[in-house]
Amino acid sequence: MFATLSDRLTATFKNLRSRGRLSEADIDATVREIRRALLDADVAVSVVRGFTGRVRERALSVEVSGALNPAQQVVKIVNEELVTVLGGEQRPLAFAKTPPTVILLAGLQGAGKTTLAGKLARHLREQGHTPLLVAADLQRPNAVTQLQVVGERAGVPVFAPHPGAQESSEGGVEIAPAADPVAVAREGLATARNRQHDVLIVDTAGRLGVDAEMMQQAADIRDAVRPDEILFVIDAMIGQDAVVTAQAFADGVGFTGVVLSKLDGDARGGAALSVASVTGRPIMFASTGEKLTDFEVFHPDRMASRILD
Ligand code: GDP
Repeated sequence: MFATLSDRLTATFKNLRSRGRLSEADIDATVREIRRALLDADVAVSVVRGFTGRVRERALSVEVSGALNPAQQVVKIVNEELVTVLGGEQRPLAFAKTPPTVILLAGLQGAGKTTLAGKLARHLREQGHTPLLVAADLQRPNAVTQLQVVGERAGVPVFAPHPGAQESSEGGVEIAPAADPVAVAREGLATARNRQHDVLIVDTAGRLGVDAEMMQQAADIRDAVRPDEILFVIDAMIGQDAVVTAQAFADGVGFTGVVLSKLDGDARGGAALSVASVTGRPIMFASTGEKLTDFEVFHPDRMASRILD
């Protein structure tokens, strides 16, 4: 995803390496190159401005001493600032003191929420948790079935409204009282408590664009289940729109963390670089493909190193 940005930055630093001591003009030229590379990668203008401002200020005050030459010090500064923009330290999930920990997934339709629900459930199960998935996306006709398929693959039971279904003895399929997403979520939580699942993952409906009714529904579900984490899932392929969408969700529902999906795509990556900085919420996970195993805990430092590799 970051191939072009990575090449551009590497080329900029190569240029710098051939110089010894750096003049203010050298630093300005470098910062200009970095600014162009970030803008061309679709990073939000406000993020680019803050980023280049900090890099310039720090580069100008670099002392010529220590093990690193001036050029290496600039690379180090850019690396550190990239880590900051990407959210700083890796932020683990906050588990509730009294289980179940409730995780609500929000985002536009097609962002990758249902896929992510399965990946997260599998990840947590591997860590010894006993998650329950809840299908509270009743907007899309196939969403419930899709979650059931994903849950089966992940080896995690799904609580879903399914009027025709019998309650399975293995606990694979559950019956919710009505096709009301708030009621489904609430019943899912009660079921998690009764069956001693320690994590509840609630999949919610998205729309193709930001819409007041969808926001309200997500907010109603939030109020019904009082999540410990609200993860905003964003398709990294949508470019500059990501920032606007993220802001709309931050205002309409609020969220505690970000999941970047489709990082395996060939978009320019700016969305991924902007969203933590613009919303002030950390990127916690990344989705890198359609398979359940295409999933990573997001480490800002590793991502920065990958970009500057
Ligand atoms: P939802 O509407 O937010 O629940 O989104 P889905 O989970 O249904 O995902 C929408 C489409 O994107 C599906 O075809 C998924 O297989 C695909 N998808 C989800 N995550 C990823 C990913 O990380 N990489 C790729 N390449 N495709 C993904």
